[in-house]
Amino acid sequence: MSDIAEKLNALRAQINAAANAAERDPASVKLIAISKFQPREVVFDVLSAGHSFFGESRVQEAQKKFAPLRALHPSLELHLIGPLQTNKAEEAVALFDVIQTLDRPKLAAALAAAMEKRGKTPRLYVEVNIGNEPQKAGVPLRELESFLRLCHADYGLSIQGLMCLPPQTEDPTPFFSALKERADFHGLPYLSMGMSADFDAAIRAGATEVRIGSALFGARR
Ligand SMILES: *Cc1c(COP(=O)(O)O)cnc(C)c1O
Repeated sequence: MSDIAEKLNALRAQINAAANAAERDPASVKLIAISKFQPREVVFDVLSAGHSFFGESRVQEAQKKFAPLRALHPSLELHLIGPLQTNKAEEAVALFDVIQTLDRPKLAAALAAAMEKRGKTPRLYVEVNIGNEPQKAGVPLRELESFLRLCHADYGLSIQGLMCLPPQTEDPTPFFSALKERADFHGLPYLSMGMSADFDAAIRAGATEVRIGSALFGARR
């Protein structure tokens, strides 16, 4: 077995254990391989190991790596997990299956226009600034309800999930639980939270997607 296949298996076992400990169905937690800064050969290895869910943080980089792979791998599911500029909205809509970082009205408008133009409807999540950190992207928790209403009423967007990155130096569990509570309140089925260092806690709190980079690929160069 390749190194990557072994790592994928080990991670999957950890994910399953966390789900079982939380009395959740392990199949309800998806592993998204975060391949940012990884070369295309590494992506090939992951695909060859039978894994088809990926996340990238930049539109251009994702396009270079993944556009040529689409036709060969119809099961590929590509998530945008980094900040999106409005002038890249159309490219993002064309390339990604899921856009996890909708965080402002201007972007909602740009995505709605791009989806209309392209006749394509990627799944959309709202990024929430769960720790109210000034340096971080995301809608503040207290504005989430009105932002969701605006997305729907003004732009006809159907939001299907929430995503967050909790503060790095604090226990993430209360932040994960707060996001889970909001997702349930708004009836949103997808909850993207948990990275290499904290996916166990995220799964216990209800994550349906964990975004794992360094635990799979090693430290980024
Ligand atoms: C890079 C990144 C990840 C993966 O982080 P690791 O700690 O390497 O697992 C997850 N989510 C986002 C938004 C990222 O930018």
